Amino acid sequence: MNFADSEVVASIMSEIGVETTNDEMEADIIFINTCSIRDNAEQKIRHRLKHLRHNKKQNKNLTIGILGCMAERLKKQLLEEEKLVDIVAGPDAYKELPILLREVEDGHKAINVLLSLEETYAEIQPTRLNSNGVTAYISITRGCDNMCSFCVVPFTRGRERSRNPESIVAEAQDLVSKGYKEVTLLGQNVDSYLWYGGGARKDFDKLTEDEKASSVSFANLLEKVAQVDPTLRVRFSTSHPKDIHDEVLFVMKKYDNVAKHIHFPAQSGSTRILEKMNRTYTREWYEMKYNRIKEVLPNCGVSCDIITGFCSETEEDHQATLDLMRTCEFEFSYMYFYSERPGTLAARKYEDDVPEDMKRRRLSEVIEAQHEVSRKLNAAQLGKIHRVLVEAQSKKNADEWMGRNEQNLKVIFPRSTYAIGDYVDVRIEKTTTASLIGVGVS
Ligand code: SAH
Ligand code: SF4
Repeated sequence: MNFADSEVVASIMSEIGVETTNDEMEADIIFINTCSIRDNAEQKIRHRLKHLRHNKKQNKNLTIGILGCMAERLKKQLLEEEKLVDIVAGPDAYKELPILLREVEDGHKAINVLLSLEETYAEIQPTRLNSNGVTAYISITRGCDNMCSFCVVPFTRGRERSRNPESIVAEAQDLVSKGYKEVTLLGQNVDSYLWYGGGARKDFDKLTEDEKASSVSFANLLEKVAQVDPTLRVRFSTSHPKDIHDEVLFVMKKYDNVAKHIHFPAQSGSTRILEKMNRTYTREWYEMKYNRIKEVLPNCGVSCDIITGFCSETEEDHQATLDLMRTCEFEFSYMYFYSERPGTLAARKYEDDVPEDMKRRRLSEVIEAQHEVSRKLNAAQLGKIHRVLVEAQSKKNADEWMGRNEQNLKVIFPRSTYAIGDYVDVRIEKTTTASLIGVGVS
């Protein structure tokens, strides 16, 4: 999400003649796009700011801006605490950056952290940064209307808004015309995408008859993007278990170019903890939805996010999470230990009472459980053929390519005559926990 935002910012800057550079020491403006989801993400930014002192000494005209969630969360406080910072701009204020830069030129510190009910940057053509020319992100919603008790996103990124579908399709078409082969539609909860003409999210039942008639759901949107070009691979993330519906699964089934992968964060395997997290589903509901995915799309990869050590989590709750991971066998998971975020429901209502060493121990058990599952699932791919989109040179060996299969797993294979952007059928000959290794056969 942040990456997609940085591309929007780069585009806004290019309109006023400011170009991006890969050489930090050459830059006259450094914008740091921040994340507040976990405390350590914020600590990293504080650290980074310390290093930037050196840059400011070298270049007296250097302007430093903090953008995104941390700007929104800490607002003016950030300017006071970090003397180095000249600009603080929240996630809905990027279009104001040219004005904020002028204020800095006039010798002031500049801040805009107003959240919006409408801003989706729909009309902005993102400038692709560090692009491989093959894969790109397209934001389809901003903000989040859920109130998961551990999560700061609704506070830092504001109310959920869906972006005009025509602008999304146009962005996908533009990417295809530039040779891109894969797009990922991005939103905190893609299944709740609902276009009815703009503005803050509304439930379908609350729309007027006219709005209903012209509304576009996520399933409709996915179909429109899938139809842009049959060789464009379409992905999306993230699916909230409470909102995923059959229509989306049917579109995935109908279109070969919609990758068979769903990022489907459970967060915990314990219904008691899920309730405390305000995820609004139970363990049984999660498994039912998971089974439905596999019923409609037997080949679909499912990945997960897990938090260990949430408030009051007992050993039994933790075992329930390990059990969920062994039952559902996720292709991969992003796993974290709970980090209390100021202002969230959990910070206000619950005690952060699981000691850090216990959170960490549980996290390592969860990681080990995932590795075991990954090893098993990957080993079962030996001899099978996967359709891989070549993305880049393998990090470890310049003679090999790295690409991803439909399930979003990394596949490594010899270069041969293939090129970045090719779809290659790869026969799997070796596997590790994190990747499949094979040879091109197409
Ligand atoms: N909208 C997505 C999640 C976005 S945040 C969803 O609902 O699934 C990405 C992940 O960060 C979450 O899935 C969660 O696992 C993790 N996360 C969020 N807040 C956290 C916190 N306070 N401590 C630890 N992990 C957290
Ligand atoms: Fe955070 Fe929950 Fe919204 Fe995801 S759905 S961004 S976890 S509040």
